[in-house]
Amino acid sequence: MEEDITTDLCVLQSHLDGMLDRVQENSLTLKRFQVFEMKLLNLNSLPAMIDHMLNETKSFFDLDAVSFCLIDEKGDIARFLNEDSYDYQSKDGLLLLEDKELLKSTFGLSSRPFLGAYKQASCAGFFPDFVRKPASVAIIPLSRRGKFFGSLNLGSYTSNRFINNMATDFIEHMVSVVSICLENNLNYEMLRRTSHIDTLTGVNNRRFLEQRIGEEIDRSQRNDDPLSCLFLDIDFFKAINDTYGHQAGDQVLALVAGMIKKQLRSNDVLARYGGEEFVALLSTIDEVKAGDIAERIRASIKELSVPFNNEVIKVTISIGLATYEPSNMPKASTAEIAAQLIQSSDTALYSAKKKGRNRVEKGRPVLDEVDKITRIA
Ligand code: GH3
Ligand code: MG
Ligand code: MG
Repeated sequence: MEEDITTDLCVLQSHLDGMLDRVQENSLTLKRFQVFEMKLLNLNSLPAMIDHMLNETKSFFDLDAVSFCLIDEKGDIARFLNEDSYDYQSKDGLLLLEDKELLKSTFGLSSRPFLGAYKQASCAGFFPDFVRKPASVAIIPLSRRGKFFGSLNLGSYTSNRFINNMATDFIEHMVSVVSICLENNLNYEMLRRTSHIDTLTGVNNRRFLEQRIGEEIDRSQRNDDPLSCLFLDIDFFKAINDTYGHQAGDQVLALVAGMIKKQLRSNDVLARYGGEEFVALLSTIDEVKAGDIAERIRASIKELSVPFNNEVIKVTISIGLATYEPSNMPKASTAEIAAQLIQSSDTALYSAKKKGRNRVEKGRPVLDEVDKITRIA
């Protein structure tokens, strides 16, 4: 009798020990997830988030393969990453998908994760960059309010690491945090860009120009390259509004902006500076080349015909240009050079207007302050 009780007690004790071990294990797992999530929540850019997902997930959860699929139907994500000079094509495990087919065929309409043995037919698409394929996988959809963003895919060489019907509470919680962060970062990246765009013409706005001009001057000084600035203003634009109406004026503005942009390189900055005024920054372009480019723009606008209500509107543009040539003398401040570039090209524009419009005029070259002093002396 006494022996029976002792045996029962031993069994109970070992059950209790087992439970305590599991509680301890769960609490450690929970802590690991919490640390991972806190790090994720503190990231504030898409590239940083992608790096975190690809690099940290693996070590945090002791996995052998991790991939991160993002649906990029319009190519926005690729563009964002390109613009941030993030070499996404060389990132093993990052997959930008042009459509939802892969996710649809795996999950259907459900947002439940898939856990179980790796199957070539259904899982290979999620782990294309891994030569040695995992034995078991967890493929977890990332979605928010019914919208699919992609999936987080975890793989292990251990076959029983992920098994069907396994509890997925921790994983699902983490993935909902990942989804929120992803949605936030994508919204932020979109907002960051649209807040720099003029909605009527589709070119950059003045705020963007003010931000970029300093960077362009710094680059020009660093590389000892010239930087040219064009100030462009549509001639007699008020008369277009007065004759054809404001709507026609808007159409002219948009087409003129598009035509100017077409004559520039993709990395040149073109901004709508005000009503019918634009500013272009041409990096590495000296005064002579800038004159040629301005002349090409002027000629193309003169050829432009804007159709409006069975009529054709013709338009011309005047352009003032100024060039900054960095010297090997001590540099003037960036803000000072920026102000001089705008001022000198604006003065040249004024002179083009005075000389009859539909022409290009060159302004006073912009020099480093100390250089200017020594040249005058
Ligand atoms: P100039 O050859 O000397 O540059 O003459 P201008 O008529 O082009 O210049 P002015 O500064 O007298 O007039 C600019 C006009 O541009 C006045 C303003 O109503 C118009 N404008 C400014 N922004 C917009 C816009 O977004 N849409 C339209 N349709 N008109 C605009
Ligand atoms: Mg004008
Ligand atoms: Mg004007």
